[in-house]
Amino acid sequence: MVRTADIVIIGAGIIGSATAYELAKLGIKNIVVLEKSYVSSGSTGRCGAGVRQQWGLEFNAILAKKSVEIFETLTDELMMDIEFRQGGYLVLAHDEIQVNQFRKNIALQNRLGIPSRFVSKEESVEICPPINTDAFVSATYCPTDGHANPFLTNFAYQRGAERLGVKFYRNTEVIGIEKSGEKIVSVKTDRGDISTQVILNAAGPWSAEVAQMLNLEIPTKPDRHQILITEPLAPVFETMVISFQTGIYVQQVPHGSFILGISEIEESSHNIKSSWQFLEHITHILLEILPFMRDVRIVRQWAGSYVKTPDAAPILGEHPEQPGFFMAVGFSGHGFMLAPMTARVTAQIIAGVKPDLDISPLFIERFKMDKLIIEPSVVG
Ligand SMILES: Cc1cc2nc3c(=O)[nH]c(=O)nc-3n(C[C@H](O)[C@H](O)[C@H](O)COP(=O)(O)OP(=O)(O)OC[C@H]3O[C@@H](n4cnc5c(N)ncnc54)[C@H](O)[C@@H]3O)c2cc1C
Repeated sequence: MVRTADIVIIGAGIIGSATAYELAKLGIKNIVVLEKSYVSSGSTGRCGAGVRQQWGLEFNAILAKKSVEIFETLTDELMMDIEFRQGGYLVLAHDEIQVNQFRKNIALQNRLGIPSRFVSKEESVEICPPINTDAFVSATYCPTDGHANPFLTNFAYQRGAERLGVKFYRNTEVIGIEKSGEKIVSVKTDRGDISTQVILNAAGPWSAEVAQMLNLEIPTKPDRHQILITEPLAPVFETMVISFQTGIYVQQVPHGSFILGISEIEESSHNIKSSWQFLEHITHILLEILPFMRDVRIVRQWAGSYVKTPDAAPILGEHPEQPGFFMAVGFSGHGFMLAPMTARVTAQIIAGVKPDLDISPLFIERFKMDKLIIEPSVVG
């Protein structure tokens, strides 16, 4: 293992790997990524990997749109098929309050060049033939939304970064961070120390623990989210079906299986055990929307963490109290879809290059200044 690095990235989820790649593309040398388990072992390898641009806040919509533009190029650029498919997102509205919110969302998205629109119940059936039209009052659809394979995307970024000289060390846990005066001087791992003055905290569910190594409190907390996969069927629909009201999302992946999850009320913890209560809950909601799935067999269920901040938006940028300590954490249920552009601007900020997008609204200072970013259209 190398003993000095210009930048140490803690965590090889999609954020750590993609940022490593973007930093290397900027010509930064001596980048090390430390991963306590295997690449994608955190939230990334457990996620639904949906990619949507149908947001209610301008900032999120831009970040998502720019990420989609990058997703569209990744298979070629990284020389690995990430299984990115743009089958769209069908977003269900269940009452007039939601319809009004979606009206505002669509106006905003269209102004930004996102091709979303309201669809009638008839058109919803064309997009998703088995949908129960009694289960919603209206819907919106964006054909360029989609999903990708989270493992392949992360591995593609990792290998792309390695080709540019980045070193990934798996089974290597960061257990401390040393300072001399105000300056970071090294990270301590269970395989020895690495001298460095610059760290990116991309530790996902463990990001608060990593910050604590510098006696810093950051407001990120992991919440269990459960998800399941069914047996594969012949193609039924390409779109992701999602409802913010019930918190359910369902998609059919290229292999033919359906992947679906739903929000539940959770205590913040690192618990990622599966429960039968989830199966019972999701089944009820699912069958209201897609009754044909009654006889589809479930193959496996699992869980992972949404990493929550007080406003469910990520924390990016350098910590104001610790020079050299950068953060890209707290992505809640949307860190995969926002990763490509987030990684690009995070790399630019670390490299001291003017970022392509002003991400200052996402700096940690917003919590002290009470400038929270409240997004109306999220799966909580
Ligand atoms: C069930 C579920 C469904 C989801 N669905 C979607 C979706 O459809 N679309 C979407 O955009 N997002 C979705 N998400 C959210 C998405 O998974 C995350 O936002 C994203 O993966 C965050 O990536 P990350 O790199 O920040 O974190 P992670 O993937 O968790 O990576 C962090 C890594 O840091 C490592 N690490 C932590 N501490 C240390 C340490 N001390 N030393 C070394 N390594 C360390 C961990 O082992 C881990 O591998 C979903 C999440 C879940 C749980």
